[in-house]
Amino acid sequence: MPEARESVSRRLLQRLRETLAQESAGQERLDRITDLIARSLGTDVCSIYLFRDSETLELCATHGLKPEAVHKTRMRLGEGLVGRVGRDGRIINTADAPSHPGFRYMPETGEESFSSFLGVPVQRLGETLGVLVVQTKTPRQFTDDEVYAIEVVAMVLAEMAELGAFIGEGAALGALHQRPVMFRGVSAQEGTAEGHVWLHEPRVVVTNPIADDPEQEKARLGEAIERLRVSVDEMLDSAPTGDKEQLQVLETYRMFANSRGWIRRIEEAIEGGLSAEAAVEKEQTAARSRMMQVPDPYLRERLHDLDDLSNRLLRILTGQGNHTGAEMPADPVLVARNIGPGELLDYGRNLRGIVLEEGSVGSHAAIVARALAIPLVINAGPITTEALNGDPILVDGDEGIVHLRPDDNIAAAFRDKMAMQAEAQKRYASIRGKPTITRDGVRIKLTMNAGLMADLPSLESSGADGVGLFRTELQFLLRNTVPRRGELAALYARVMDAAKGKPVVFRTLDVGSDKVLPYMKPQDEPNPAMGWRAIRVGLDKPGVLRMQLQALIRGAAGRPLHVMFPFIAQFEEFKAARGQLERALERESRLNHPLPKEIHVGAMLETPSIAFAPRQFFEMADFISIGGNDLKQFFFAADRENERVRRRYDTLNVSFLNFLEGIIGRCAETGTPLSFCGEDAGRPVEALCFAAMGLRHLSMRPASIGPVKHMLMQHDLSDLRKVIDEARQSGAQSVRPAVMNWLQHQASGF
Ligand code: PEP
Ligand code: MG
Repeated sequence: MPEARESVSRRLLQRLRETLAQESAGQERLDRITDLIARSLGTDVCSIYLFRDSETLELCATHGLKPEAVHKTRMRLGEGLVGRVGRDGRIINTADAPSHPGFRYMPETGEESFSSFLGVPVQRLGETLGVLVVQTKTPRQFTDDEVYAIEVVAMVLAEMAELGAFIGEGAALGALHQRPVMFRGVSAQEGTAEGHVWLHEPRVVVTNPIADDPEQEKARLGEAIERLRVSVDEMLDSAPTGDKEQLQVLETYRMFANSRGWIRRIEEAIEGGLSAEAAVEKEQTAARSRMMQVPDPYLRERLHDLDDLSNRLLRILTGQGNHTGAEMPADPVLVARNIGPGELLDYGRNLRGIVLEEGSVGSHAAIVARALAIPLVINAGPITTEALNGDPILVDGDEGIVHLRPDDNIAAAFRDKMAMQAEAQKRYASIRGKPTITRDGVRIKLTMNAGLMADLPSLESSGADGVGLFRTELQFLLRNTVPRRGELAALYARVMDAAKGKPVVFRTLDVGSDKVLPYMKPQDEPNPAMGWRAIRVGLDKPGVLRMQLQALIRGAAGRPLHVMFPFIAQFEEFKAARGQLERALERESRLNHPLPKEIHVGAMLETPSIAFAPRQFFEMADFISIGGNDLKQFFFAADRENERVRRRYDTLNVSFLNFLEGIIGRCAETGTPLSFCGEDAGRPVEALCFAAMGLRHLSMRPASIGPVKHMLMQHDLSDLRKVIDEARQSGAQSVRPAVMNWLQHQASGF
């Protein structure tokens, strides 16, 4: 670092610190800072502009412009040189401002007589809070050292603003983290929630941005980096070898933690007069600005990793862990960039809602949120930089919309919606104990989908006829090693106990595709959804399947047992899987363990191929369940995980209904009980159409049972079937418009 640069910024920061140490607050403080900068750099003007709202910058303090203009002069984002710095987050340094493109003359400030202009964004963690400007009458090109000094001061300013130092007296910054913001994300679990923000990883607060002794700060940095390296190495040692992605992230951490360039840039900022933590944050802010401009998703991910690493380093330096002492609100809505399923389970049902910046509908966290019936919105913009602990927040999981710090009108409309939903819940509660019988007297069995012990209480509260799909993979996904047979047997026994005699259909392990076990060797398949997954893994490496079947038999302990094999694509696979079960029964019998009183062995129909299997398959299966989530993705060749295409094809598309009719017909020929357990079964209109097509058993999330039951009890299936058949013959692409039209007429009493 050149001596000059070090001394300009250090001198300035030293004086700034003395100024800040004096008794002053709000406006007076801002005024003193502008005076100090102008005097120290010998400029005619120094001004601070802060964002009044996301589009408007306001002159909040000045040395050199007309004092009357303070809190009056405003400019829109991109307007004039100040507006450009605010918009682009980039420095403008010119000796001849009036001839610079974008210059805007502001007579109210008396600006015409100034020639040179240096504008630096006031940024914190990639977010621009305002603009710091110096100007001179005589043309002057500010040197790199002066620019650096102003940058460092801008960073200290941003820190102070964050601490609320300027809140009050009309200063704009206070408004920044108070204004309402809406985020449009993607719905991953329906439902609505009102509550207060609880940040999974609260931001580190830097309280001492300026330091006197660079050597001491560098020593602190060195120690912290050493601790960081050790912790990354430990994480690498204990990371499951199967999780390629996690290993890759940790390797990137290690690379950054040893990067000379990264450390040198932080040390330079320390020599400029910042404390070690402020210097780390300065570099983090610069990295975030770079990140926002990188179009390549892979590089962006790596920069995200660097961001995480900086946070870890900041936590070490400040001693602030995840627990900042803040108290969790009584109605917490979890806000995070992303979260693992285990961490989410730790929070449990306490959460009112969850909002993630990243995530995918099929992620493990989404599966857990669904199991716990907590409204979840994913891909919700940069909410972690905007939200503060305790902020009021509304989560609309139906629409994928989040309102942070909502204004009164939005909150009132939202509460109306919640009240209507509560009203509907009451209606559903009143029919809970009744059987589901349609207007024309058809009995429909409604069961629930589950995957955790925690789901079982819903059996009673929803009035479900049993568990139509128990996804057993969650117990495997949530831990670092294969669960033991004894543990599983005990869990399955508890599930059956909790079901109190109602049937529970256990689906054997469905891993692969999006569900990767931490301890499973990654397969690196080009298309995992069509790869080595579910029963394919179970049959090729039968150890785990055998163990699971034994655990199920032991868990049943003489009670009836329902086992279902996932992703059966051809008859042979079902025969082989059934064979495994029979051998397990023989083994248990030899060991004198009690055998289940009855055993029902089913197959999931998730690929079109099995719908055309030989008749003997339908005869051999004790029951069949349509896994509509997978079946639809293969039927339409539209990835269920791909936001671009996953909603493209309607379930009520005529082709799909024709296909369903074929499956229903084949099961009817052999008398094989058939159910539908994909997400669509829980959507009232779809469920009604499935029933009209001939399905008599639907399995869904517990929260859907009430609305589906209500819908079914209101309508006549044979009338609807006529409407559907007419639409199928009309050449329409989907029967939905005709069905919706019919439903509307029904509701209005025609
Ligand atoms: C399905 O595919 O419809 C299904 C129920 O299984 P999963 O969603 O667990 O793949
Ligand atoms: Mg499936």
